[in-house]
This record gives sequence, structure tokens and C-alpha cells, in this order.
Amino acid sequence: MAESTQVLSDSAPRRAAGRLISVSNRLPVTVTMENGQVAIKRSSGGLATGLRRVLSGDRGVWIGWPGQLGELSEAQRHRIVRQLADLGTAPVNLSDHEVEIFYEEVSNGVLWPLCHDRIDRLPLRIEGWDVYETVNQRYADAVVDAWQPGDTIWVHDYQLMRVPLLIRRRLPHAKIGFFLHVPFPNPEIFFTLPVRRWLVEGMLGADLIGFHTRRYRGHFTAALRRLFGIEMDVPTSTVAWNERRVTLGIFPMGIDAASFAERAVSRDVNVLTLELKQPASRLLVGIDRLDYSKGIQRRVLALQQLLIDHPEWRERVRLVQVAVPSRGRVGAYKRFRHDVESLISRINGEFATPAWTPIHYIHRAVSPATLVALYRAADVMLVTPVRDGMNLVAKEFAACRSDEDGVLVLSEFAGAVDELTDACIVNPYDIAGVAETIHTALTMSGTERRTRMRRLRAQVFEHDVRRWAEEFLAALAAA
Ligand code: UDP
Repeated sequence: MAESTQVLSDSAPRRAAGRLISVSNRLPVTVTMENGQVAIKRSSGGLATGLRRVLSGDRGVWIGWPGQLGELSEAQRHRIVRQLADLGTAPVNLSDHEVEIFYEEVSNGVLWPLCHDRIDRLPLRIEGWDVYETVNQRYADAVVDAWQPGDTIWVHDYQLMRVPLLIRRRLPHAKIGFFLHVPFPNPEIFFTLPVRRWLVEGMLGADLIGFHTRRYRGHFTAALRRLFGIEMDVPTSTVAWNERRVTLGIFPMGIDAASFAERAVSRDVNVLTLELKQPASRLLVGIDRLDYSKGIQRRVLALQQLLIDHPEWRERVRLVQVAVPSRGRVGAYKRFRHDVESLISRINGEFATPAWTPIHYIHRAVSPATLVALYRAADVMLVTPVRDGMNLVAKEFAACRSDEDGVLVLSEFAGAVDELTDACIVNPYDIAGVAETIHTALTMSGTERRTRMRRLRAQVFEHDVRRWAEEFLAALAAA
């Protein structure tokens, strides 16, 4: 997901005063070794894109982990730190042991499944919080080192839930915002966590806590009620905490819609799109990280069900499923990959003919041009996570469809569903229901497809990532 070597230099709207210090687990750049040469590449993720314009040049600092720099010589390491500083970023380094405990075991092995309602995926022993605290303290220290009076601090996501409090202890008057990019789970699920209180206290160090949806904020306020007996004041969306008021806001994250739209009509994408379209066959597309929250298995079972219930689609529809490798070092993900691939191969074996295979499976990241060509070529885009904080793929699909065609099938458990109400909304657990919705999408009239897509696009363009970042920062300034 990396694109070019230039970073954080687009023109920025002037912010009132002070700089923005952004803090996320990973920096929006990735340091890689290619043929013995060190390269720094900019990430193309939504967060990086959204903040790039707000945070630029001397108006911003981004603090985060640049990835493992282990294999570098001293000289290379120095050069990288200097280059990162030139890009307005400050690296937080993690040891191998810290990566294993803080990142893989606690963040991805405990907090990720918990926030995605998968307590069945929790390890028997939920531990490693001392390392989580040590690493969060290191991020907080890096912020304190960078901070100057007038600066605003924006902390991101579930890996850094303790950071707001750890900064607050050293900078009692600093402006601190925290945004949770994953769902805040229902308290019944959240309360399984032995350290539930300690984590919430960490978040409450912020002046503003942002969520994607009203539902996630509702879960958080329910947790506050049960943990501390405090209520949110509805007119101001604030809670009283340690002689301060903490604002709880709703900010559904958007995408850089204009740049997706622009890329979608480039010449190489036109060529790729034509190659993907097959006159005799309709195209279903799924694009996900290979993660158990994304509902890939139930999605392919729904395709199988479609081929059983509507045999007229055999040899006339195919699914291209891109599954971007993710967290391959976490044990649960290795087993999961095996399960997904066995299921796909079983369904392909059952239905394929010499001339046709129902599921075309790609286990790697595709190029930006291919990604956008898939969005453009899709007759039906399948976004059916069993739980997803927002889901940007759904929005990117709409942004790329200037032809106002294509149907979005969207899970009711993706945060994006609150905004994308013109999608065909499904319960991903209802496999027969999803199969029937795919059939409906494939047979929908051109007029209805256009009406729905027009509304989806209006929503996605109006509420883009730049607006998301600006609204959060405006609310933080007012908090
Ligand atoms: N993506 C990508 N390369 C690929 C497939 C996907 O860069 O080969 C991007 C995609 O454009 C989207 C992101 O990965 O911006 C996935 O974001 P989403 O919110 O859907 O899910 P997440 O991975 O954050 O859980």
C-alpha cells in the first residue's frame, strides 16, 4: 500500500495557531530495503491521505513506528532518521519483543478481536499489558518532547488507548484528541477484558474522543455508566471527568474521493477495466485485508448458495476476491488463511468447468491501477464484513463509478452503512439472504442502479476525508 517517495508536502489549508502533532501506531511512511538500498515510501491509506493536507511542512509532526529497522547499518539508520525528520515525521522504535507483545499479541491478538465482537478469538491468557503501557508511554514521551505551547495533539486508534492519559499527566493543559478507528464494542463484550477500566481511563485523558458512528459512541457511554456511574450530557455531548469535560463526538471517516475519481479515468485504468469486463459474464468483486472480520468465508458461501438456488448464473458470473496478506505472524491469521483458501478451493472444485472458475482468488495487494479498475469493472461490489469500524472500500467503489453504474452490497455491520443507505444492505450471517441479494443486484434495472449510485456518490464526495479531518480538528479546538 505504498506509492511514492514524496510525503506530507501537498498544499495545506492554514490552521489557526500552533502545529498538529499526529500520533499513530505506524507512520504514514514505510521504510523498506530494496536490493540493499533503503527506501522510504508514502502509504496510501485513508488516514495518511486525510491528514496529509492538514499536516504539512512546519505545521505538523507525525509520530509513529516506521517498521522494523533491524537490518540496517548505523550509517543507514542515521540517514533514515534524518530523512524521516525532513518529512515531518518522528520515529518511535520498537524492539522485536515489543513488536511481538504490544503489536501482535495485545493489539492484534486481543484488542482487535474484542473490538470486532470476536471474543471466541481471544487467547486463554489475556496478558502483556505491562508492555502495552511501556510502549504507549514511549509514544507519549515522544509527543511531550515534540510539543510546544499552542500545538494540538491527535492520537489515533486502539493500539494507543493509554496515550491520551499518559500525555495529560505531563502536559495537563495540552489540547488532546483521540480517534478510535475500530468499533467500540458493546459493553457486554468489552467487559470481558480484565483491564477495561484502565483502558477507558486512558482514553479519557483526551479533550475530545471521536467515533465513526453513533452506535459506537453509545457503547462507550454505556461503558462509562457501568464503570463510573457517569452520564453524557446530551446537549453538549460531554462527560465530566477529573474536573475537566471530555467531548464525545461522531466523525464518520471519508476517503479522498476526488483523487480516486481522477485515477479511475486514467488511460491505464481504462485499458485494465476493459480487460476485466467479459461480455458473457458478470463480475462480482470483493477487496479486503485477509482478516476474519471481513466475512470472506460467508461471502463465498453466499456465492455457492447463489449457484445452487439460481443455476442460471453458472458460467455467467464470477467473483474476483482480492485478499491482501495481513498480520501473517499472528497464529490465528495463519489458520484463518488456510480455512479461507480451503473453502474457496472446495467451491471452485465443486462448480468449475473447463472454461470457467467461479472464484478468482488473489492473495496479495494489487496495484493502485488494478484496484481502481476492479472497482470500475464490478457489476456488484461485495462488502460484507461481520464487523468493520467503517470500511473505506465501499466508499472508494462509489467514488470510482462516474458511469453511475454498479451495485454495492453492504453489510449492516460495517460503520459505512449509516451513510451509504442506498446500498443493498445485508446481514452477512444470513447466507441465503446474501445470495438472494446478489441475485437482486445482478438483475436490478439500469434506472435503479443509477439512482442508487448517484446518491452514494453524492454522499462520498460531500463527506470526504479532508472534511472528516477538518471537522474533528474544529471540534477539538472548541472542546
Ligand atoms: N487497498 C490497497 N491495496 C489493495 C487492496 C486494498 O491499498 O490491494 C486499500 C483500499 O484501497 C482501502 C484499504 O486498503 O483504502 C482498506 O481499508 P478498509 O477501511 O476497507 O479496511 P481495513 O483494512 O482498514 O480494515
